[in-house]
Amino acid sequence: QFKAEIIGVGTELLLGQIANTNAQWLSEKLALLGINVYKHVVVGDNLQRVEDAFRDAQIRSDIVIVTGGLGPTDDDLTREAFRNMSNLEMEEHIPSINKIESYFKKQKSAMTPNNRKQARVFKGCSVLDNKVGMAPGMIVLYEEKVWIFLPGVPREMKQLVTDSVLPFLGKHTGSEEIIKSLVLKFIGIGESQLEHEISDIIQAQSNPTIAPLAQNDGVVIRLTAKEKSEEKANALLVQTKQQIMERVGEHLFGIDEQTLGQQVISLLNKKKMKIAAAESLTGGMFMDKLISESGASSVSRGGIVCYDVKVKEEVLGVSSKTIRAHGTVSEECALEMANNVRKKLDSTIGISFTGVAGPEEVEGKSVGTVYIGVSTNDGYHNVQEFHFFGDRNTVRGRATLKGLEIIFK
Ligand code: ATP
Ligand code: MG
Repeated sequence: QFKAEIIGVGTELLLGQIANTNAQWLSEKLALLGINVYKHVVVGDNLQRVEDAFRDAQIRSDIVIVTGGLGPTDDDLTREAFRNMSNLEMEEHIPSINKIESYFKKQKSAMTPNNRKQARVFKGCSVLDNKVGMAPGMIVLYEEKVWIFLPGVPREMKQLVTDSVLPFLGKHTGSEEIIKSLVLKFIGIGESQLEHEISDIIQAQSNPTIAPLAQNDGVVIRLTAKEKSEEKANALLVQTKQQIMERVGEHLFGIDEQTLGQQVISLLNKKKMKIAAAESLTGGMFMDKLISESGASSVSRGGIVCYDVKVKEEVLGVSSKTIRAHGTVSEECALEMANNVRKKLDSTIGISFTGVAGPEEVEGKSVGTVYIGVSTNDGYHNVQEFHFFGDRNTVRGRATLKGLEIIFK
């Protein structure tokens, strides 16, 4: 069994200015390979302390992954610390130096000497091509131990790990077991309800393991199977998925990385419909969920953020009579908002959000009261009243999610 350790280098981690998300992400990936992570270490940008951390790791771990401190500035000390510890020789990596030089040429800016530093690698190591930044990664074999050096910038780190490090580690550890996961995503059912519906399946089963988890965009179930081959692992996953779908399949909205926004977009695409949103308390969050996904332009021309009552009246054309009689947080107002935004933006569906995000109640309505209206161009219309629990932004998030759910179902 291989013991792995992850070392984050950076004073900003110690000061609490950023969270060590690199270690979290890496741990998850290593677990999938069946590699046990025994330690997370964080050390500041101090040559002696980084070197000490490296000495400790060399003694106790088989695989050490270091993130950060590979940049050009004086506080980037990872290379120096490892050289001091190992006495390995360094050399300039020609392809990396060429890449850095041509970058500066393109930018028409002068390359300072410290930029060359990023191209320095340990002699004989495997250099990992950084496709999204300057500093290459390195895999160094040193006295029976594997050292993997990666840039601190999460985007660069992830690219190197996915493209180079995981394939290397899979081979190196010769792990016979393949670990595969499948994530099932649900909406419109709470975590405890979901767990209740399938508790006997969860209890009866250890491969794959079944783990329900509440997330921002609904509830997920993560299935993790261990098998000798990928096909066998997949077969186990499919079988368990079917069992679960028989119980709660009606609430499934996606698998793995799929988002509710994507699913709503592909549904509207299929039906050749365009949606427009009139958003008061959600302030554009609903539209944001769509526009974050590619393909949004084919299903929406836009929305209107109508926070103030004057904007509801003057921009959206909600009648002042309605607002005087029922208030802005009302079924009647939500319905006119949905109708009007649909017509104004020449769309098939209008959806509206009006409610009380908090912290104070509005028009005598309690915090968390939300009306969501839907109107379509074939005459269908409906307004639902909700009472969401939580602080201001939780209420806004729940309302947005409910809106997506209404459209999706
Ligand atoms: P650069 O070439 O950008 O200087 P580097 O390899 O020297 O990269 P650092 O300077 O240590 O890396 O970190 C660069 C940035 O990456 C940090 O400012 C921080 O935002 C982010 N970062 C560094 N380490 C971590 C970490 N462990 N988890 C999450 N983000 C991190
Ligand atoms: Mg740096």
